[in-house]
Amino acid sequence: MAKKEGLGEVSDQSRFEKVFSDSGSVDRFRNAVIAWFKEEGREYPWRNTTDPYAILVSELMLQQTRIATVLERDYFGRWMRRFPDVHALARAKEEEILKAWEGLGYYNRARNLQKAAQKVVEKGKGDFPDSIEEMESLPGVGRYTAGAVFSFAYDRRAPIVDGNVIRVFARLFGYEEAVDLPVAGKLMWKWADLLTPEAHVRAYNSGIMELGQRLCVRGTPECSACPVQEFCQAHSRGITEQLPRKKGKVKVTLKQESVGLFIKNGEILLEEESGARRKGLWKLPVVTKSESEDWEELFRLPYAITRYRVEMTVFRAPPNSREREGCTKWYPLSGGESLPPLGSPYRKAILKYLDIRDDLMMNR
Ligand code: SF4
Repeated sequence: MAKKEGLGEVSDQSRFEKVFSDSGSVDRFRNAVIAWFKEEGREYPWRNTTDPYAILVSELMLQQTRIATVLERDYFGRWMRRFPDVHALARAKEEEILKAWEGLGYYNRARNLQKAAQKVVEKGKGDFPDSIEEMESLPGVGRYTAGAVFSFAYDRRAPIVDGNVIRVFARLFGYEEAVDLPVAGKLMWKWADLLTPEAHVRAYNSGIMELGQRLCVRGTPECSACPVQEFCQAHSRGITEQLPRKKGKVKVTLKQESVGLFIKNGEILLEEESGARRKGLWKLPVVTKSESEDWEELFRLPYAITRYRVEMTVFRAPPNSREREGCTKWYPLSGGESLPPLGSPYRKAILKYLDIRDDLMMNR
């Protein structure tokens, strides 16, 4: 029987009942998602564990990074080998943590992970919270992450809503309004709450997310393989490609950045980043236009960060260029462990330089 308590608070109650009208339809929907996941769900390293710490690590890693990236470079496996539990992470140095996170970006996620581990060690002697509210009080853990850890680790009932679930729900309910408005967010959480089962929550939550990730994709979804097609409003109305709708895209701002490769005696000069978010990370020294006017331009590397599209130009600093002021330090030039934690674009620039160094020498 469909769980309907609380429906009176839903601003768009009729929309829910239009999809789940007859008794048992909610159960049919849940069972279809669970069965599909059991049959088709992908194997990921974080799905082979019920350790809440490991699940929290994977969730924070996946917050702004694609699954393929996390898997290809074994970020999750390497992190778990280096910091196998909350105790190991709680006592690690910030530099070690940033180095292990290098390449994933949004480094506050790594700092929050450590703060969360420290709180779990201090308050729970290493045991994770037993309630959603306490879980949400951990640094960096919002409603989605708390629900994910709770349901994936303990298989206990907790609704979750992420970008994939929003896409599925927008189409399932034929929601034609913008999904990036607070009112839509509230509705999505309400629908998630009404649809999340009491049992097999791990499989249901994993399934509804994976459905959005693999079948109910942006653009043209694969409705022919969808286990919940019979419920889908967008499919029956032929508007799947028009949903979900968004109010507006974030405006991208273009920026220019010039950096210098200062190399001497097999060492490279790096500069420590400033600002709370970038603290502990290093970069190639920024150079001014007038300073680099006569320097050799080596290559350009575009990159994106938050709402900026940056065109980074990498110059070779001449051997006699002036000493840098500020927090700089010489490091052995390599692409590996001898370097401190570096922001991705700067690490890529160093690797690219190492790659073309011999050609550059020959052409001089
Ligand atoms: Fe998404 Fe198509 Fe399934 Fe509807 S039928 S939920 S649009 S994949």
